[in-house]
Formats: sequence, C-alpha cells, structure tokens
Amino acid sequence: MALRIVLLGPPGAGKGTHAKILSERYRIPHISTGDILRSHIKSETPLGKKAQSFIDNGKLVPDDLVIEMVNHRLENPDVKNGFILDGFPRTVEQAKALGALLEERKIPLSFVLEFDTSEEVIIFRLSGRRTCPKCGANYHLQNIVPKQDGICDQCQTALIQRKDDTIDTIRERLKVYHEQTEPLVKFYKDKKLLRVINGNLEIGPLQKQLSESVGL
Ligand code: AMP
Repeated sequence: MALRIVLLGPPGAGKGTHAKILSERYRIPHISTGDILRSHIKSETPLGKKAQSFIDNGKLVPDDLVIEMVNHRLENPDVKNGFILDGFPRTVEQAKALGALLEERKIPLSFVLEFDTSEEVIIFRLSGRRTCPKCGANYHLQNIVPKQDGICDQCQTALIQRKDDTIDTIRERLKVYHEQTEPLVKFYKDKKLLRVINGNLEIGPLQKQLSESVGL
C-alpha cells in the first residue's frame, strides 16, 4: 500500500535526515518545501525572489505561495506510490489546503509523524549544522563529521552554514514553530492521524524506534 506521510516537528528535529532514509527505503519521493524554496532562490525564479527574505529572517513564506508550490509538486507522477512531506504543512491553513488537495486526488495520508524534540537539542543541532549547497546533505561539526573537513562526502562540494542556522534566526524559527506550526499536533491528533516519536534520539536509535513503534 502507498505510504503517504507528513513529518512534523521543529527545525532541527531530524525530519530531513529521516525523510532521506525512508525515501530510499520505500522508493518514494522526499518532498521538502524548504529544499524546493532554496532551489528557487538559487535559480532566481520569481518565487525564489519573493521567498528569500522570509527564509533569511526565519519567517514562514506566505501560505498561498507554498500551497501552490506543493499543489504543483503533487502533479508529478512520481507520487503515485506515496511520498514523504517534510516541512509542509506548517500552518493550519496549509494543513486544510493539503487535506483538500489530497481528497481531490483521492490519496489520503497514511499518518503524520511528530518528532517531539527539546529546545536544547534543536539549538545544538542547528547551530552546528553544515549543509552541502549542491546536494543538500547535512553534517554536524561534532556529530556527523564529513570524511574531509568542510567537504561533502557525496559530491565533494564545500559545505556552508545556512544563513538561517545562526543563533538569532534559530530562535526566531523556534518562536514561529510554537506559534504557527505546533497547533498542527492537535489538528492531526483530532483526526487520529498522529504518531509521536522521540526526536532527541540520534539517527540509529530513532530508526529503531520508528521500526518498533510505527512499523517503518
Ligand atoms: P526548512 O528547510 O524546512 O527548515 O525550511 C526553511 C525555511 O523555508 C523556513 O524557515 C521557511 O522560511 C521556509 N519554508 C519551508 N517550508 C515552508 C512552509 N511549509 N511554509 C512556509 N514557509 C516554509
């Protein structure tokens, strides 16, 4: 059966990392709205130009822009066997729009996975995070160290620190998460779609918990 999941949780909870692992395991696309927006910024598209200042300041890109982008992405035939949504929805408005888009296409969500993660862990992970601007792989100064200092293992590109991974912007992103995204926990709990896992766990133990408690 097609696996259609939403990964919900604050920035730095590990959504991107686990989305990549699950995407390979189940051969379904990993749809990260953050990655799509960053690629629009890189290619200087009209959407990229509109989105840039919101992203750089840790704010959410307006709902209508992101919803239209996801609507377009879901037209791609690669979603026929399922998908992993990472970073979308992020507001109740987006969640309602997603519900309508999926209902229209008759492809209901399997479930929503909440990464329950402490603020301390998030700040440690994001402030030490280094990212490959080419392939999107993530590393960490202490935790996930590349083989060669500052260089991506997969494509040999020089790693960067995302502009929004600096401490002030991290704090703003956390505030935005609590105010605008956390209400989705109740939204999906009420729909009986919510499964919760411990986002403080490192990659291996979290995968183990996923397999034992969620069957992934
Ligand atoms: P991420 O890579 O998921 O942490 O996203 C990086 C940034 O992209 C966020 O801080 C937002 O500015 C923007 N963004 C990503 N997804 C969304 C979304 N669903 N709604 C609004 N803004 C988003």
